[in-house]
Amino acid sequence: MSYSDTDTNKIRRKKIKSKVTPFPSTQRINCPECSNNKEFLEVSDGVILTTRFIQNSDGSFSQELDDSQVLGQVKFYCGDCGADLTLFHKRFLEMLF
Ligand SMILES: [Zn+2]
Repeated sequence: MSYSDTDTNKIRRKKIKSKVTPFPSTQRINCPECSNNKEFLEVSDGVILTTRFIQNSDGSFSQELDDSQVLGQVKFYCGDCGADLTLFHKRFLEMLF
């Protein structure tokens, strides 16, 4: 049994998933209420903060790991007027370095 080249091409056809991003990658986040584009607030509900410390031989402690767990919703607000910008939160996370 032999397969023709056209059959192989059909199988190899790539599926390109288009990302649904409502904002262009270069666009800065601007508050629609007050045009602030500098300060933003991220508010997390029900956060458990766990920090692991290692005790050194001299009795002092070093922070080893900072592990936080968000149980509730994460909201995103304008740092200036407090407008709810949770819509932009995904974008914020993408641009967070
Ligand atoms: Zn604002």
